[in-house]
Amino acid sequence: MIGFEYARAASVADAVRQMAESPDAKFVDLMKMDVERPAKLIDVSKLPLDQVEETAGGGLRIGALVANSDLAYHPLVERRYPVLSSALLAGASQQLRNMASVGGNLLQRTRCPYFYDLVTPCNKREPGAGCSAVDGLNRMNAILGTSESCIAVHPSDMCVALAVLEATVRVTGPRGERVIALSDFHRLPGDTPQRDTNLEGDELITSVELPARGFAANHTYLKIRDRLSYAFALVSVAVGLELEGGAIRQARFALGGVAHKPWRNAEAEAALQGRAPDEAAFAAAADLMLREARGFGHNTFKIDLARRALVRALSQAARGTPQSQSSKKIT
Ligand code: SF4
Repeated sequence: MIGFEYARAASVADAVRQMAESPDAKFVDLMKMDVERPAKLIDVSKLPLDQVEETAGGGLRIGALVANSDLAYHPLVERRYPVLSSALLAGASQQLRNMASVGGNLLQRTRCPYFYDLVTPCNKREPGAGCSAVDGLNRMNAILGTSESCIAVHPSDMCVALAVLEATVRVTGPRGERVIALSDFHRLPGDTPQRDTNLEGDELITSVELPARGFAANHTYLKIRDRLSYAFALVSVAVGLELEGGAIRQARFALGGVAHKPWRNAEAEAALQGRAPDEAAFAAAADLMLREARGFGHNTFKIDLARRALVRALSQAARGTPQSQSSKKIT
């Protein structure tokens, strides 16, 4: 048995203070799998961070402890940010969505099987040990933004929609508060795959903020997976379009299941600006999006799968016929 200290935080300030006093402490854990062995676990689950509020700028502030299902079914999210609602409902199972928080979802670590298998080398779990996935079973691994050290993917659905919405993450720590753009929150593996995010070890996520623009009219979240429920994405796509006079005024799209972070490409998005929303334009944008993709054997099929999923998702969004998640809805 591995001993550790447990402490419940009484407030956000208390959580930050306890963390500053105990450098070996953690707010979240992977202890059950023995991947992490913190000396102290600080319980933040009772902090008052479970509200969804409108902001002065017309957006939404979502507390870090709002449950995924509460967020998916929130009337303002359903009406103004349906791509987020849809992505949340595509994730995990109803039971997990009832328990999982927004902050925890942001901090999900990879589902690369070698990360959880303590007897195989993994640079993310043990820096310098090597990567078992590059020449191993890598069907679920990354095709974009990989490095020699790690080809893991970020597993969240929610974050792919947050990337399209250009959300920001508010964090607090001993040096005060700061705001991190969602695009800068998760990192590519590079030669430090042990770091998933740019959150410092002594910082706590307090909220996620959405700008006013929600792409409610033309959006979709398409998730391709091995079975329809309770499976991580092979490839997923979030899309938000603004159409005007039969042309695309603005296009945003992100891929999930293909990289160490939700994957956007400014050049591919810009290529759709001013174009008619037709399959030729979408195929050209998808080619740009996947231009740098590289497979590792078992996962090479993902390159073509991602290209076709993106074209389909863009078409769904343009038609205003988003992928339904109605089977996931508890009414
Ligand atoms: Fe570990 Fe990353 Fe390699 Fe998977 S891909 S074995 S997480 S280093």
